Amino acid sequence: VNLTKHYPVHKGILNRQIGAVQAVSDVSFRLMEGETLAIVGESGCGKSTLGRALLRLSEPTAGNVLLDGRDITTLPTGQLRTTRREMQMVFQDPFGSLNPRMTVRETLLEPIILHGVATGADADAMVSELLKTVGLSEFHAGRYPHEFSGGQRQRICIARALATKPRLIVCDEPVSALDVSVQAQIVNLLQDLQRQFGLSYVFISHDLAVVRHIADRVAVMYLGRIVEMGDAETLFHDPRHPYTRALVAAAPKPMPGAVLPDRAVKGDMPSALNPPSGCAFHTRCPIARDVCSRDRPDLRETGGKLVACHFPDEAATIPAPATAPMS
Ligand code: SF4
Ligand code: MG
Repeated sequence: VNLTKHYPVHKGILNRQIGAVQAVSDVSFRLMEGETLAIVGESGCGKSTLGRALLRLSEPTAGNVLLDGRDITTLPTGQLRTTRREMQMVFQDPFGSLNPRMTVRETLLEPIILHGVATGADADAMVSELLKTVGLSEFHAGRYPHEFSGGQRQRICIARALATKPRLIVCDEPVSALDVSVQAQIVNLLQDLQRQFGLSYVFISHDLAVVRHIADRVAVMYLGRIVEMGDAETLFHDPRHPYTRALVAAAPKPMPGAVLPDRAVKGDMPSALNPPSGCAFHTRCPIARDVCSRDRPDLRETGGKLVACHFPDEAATIPAPATAPMS
């Protein structure tokens, strides 16, 4: 499988293209410098797998990831390290992703030294600078992860990701483990850093309220495939895939901390190992017809977005579930 498609990009910040990806099941997108692309969907839809494949933390079985036109999927391990400098990851659980035996200073020095970003006194100066950048101080450098709150730990993880001066950070549910009051602070920090350093984010989340706040573009995934992708405003106001519609209808008003209910869509998610034939959503779709279980719909331009559905216009008329709070 190696069909690469390139999709239209957000026009506001048209800039250098920094990457294009194809992973999971023919997932394909481009990411622009300074852009935030959110990947949303229920747990098990393949969002995290996609994030890891992007950075080649897990090897994709097919397809490729291009960074500035360089295919990093075929790079030998030695050269991969250089590329890794430019692509970092921030995880959901800031405690689990920090070594409890390492001080903050050691935690931050590790990538700086490993990637040859700086040495000696320069490296120490960089640690202080990084701490300041994420809203902590030199005063915290000698402490251990358990001495911090969840939000502070996530700041440390973000500082560690910034240590290699990356251009892309994949954030996998970066605020879902945090208290609601802290979520907004971290999201705001990420946005400040993006402006300051021109960072691009792939923001993996099941929290539509947070996504609405941070994303320029959104890709909705269902069972390993993108079913709808487009500009965030358009996608939230005029969702065309029945699955996106259900997700958006079930999400509360835009406010960080409002989480997608577990059962936004009726019925269980089928197994990703043995996805339904045709359109994988046909087992749960309110407007499914015979053709849906036979033919898999391609992503096609519809209403300014890309939608993988045989009946996107009809989908636009599906009323919101009665139980869902509408904004
Ligand atoms: Fe529903 Fe058919 Fe569209 Fe799939 S292709 S989302 S089953 S209408
Ligand atoms: Mg996940």
